[in-house]
Amino acid sequence: MGDQRKATMPSGCGCGPPPHECLSDDEYVTQLTGRNGQFRNAPRVGVEVDFSVHRGRLSLAATYTKVTKDSSPLPEELQNSGVRYALTGDLRTAGFTVVHTPGKIIDGTHTSIVWAGEDLGEVVVPWPEKVSETFGSCFDKPIPHSDEADDA
Ligand SMILES: [Zn+2]
Repeated sequence: MGDQRKATMPSGCGCGPPPHECLSDDEYVTQLTGRNGQFRNAPRVGVEVDFSVHRGRLSLAATYTKVTKDSSPLPEELQNSGVRYALTGDLRTAGFTVVHTPGKIIDGTHTSIVWAGEDLGEVVVPWPEKVSETFGSCFDKPIPHSDEADDA
């Protein structure tokens, strides 16, 4: 792990509780991919230190709009995109910190997932492979069929 680097924890939201406690364990987060259903399982090395998701269980179109700011995506733009969901509680149990990071957006849903290394409290990148695997498995759990997307 020689070239792992440490970064500061993302700073937070104005919701009241500390940003890393803001989401409750039973809230879903939504991950978007634009790569034919292939989802990343770690932050991009050299680009980011946290992993971006959106709070809630959002539809593909809603998530795409949040990420790209494109309010009316064309069907072909959505064709190669996909969303998947994880429960905040599962991510926390797996050792991740889920931080609400809406920036300046009122009611923003942007949320950052960080891995705080072996010593909690530090943000460490890149993630060890095992950590990425664990991350992916949080998103692979089946979702109860009756659960509609929050914005449906
Ligand atoms: Zn918040």
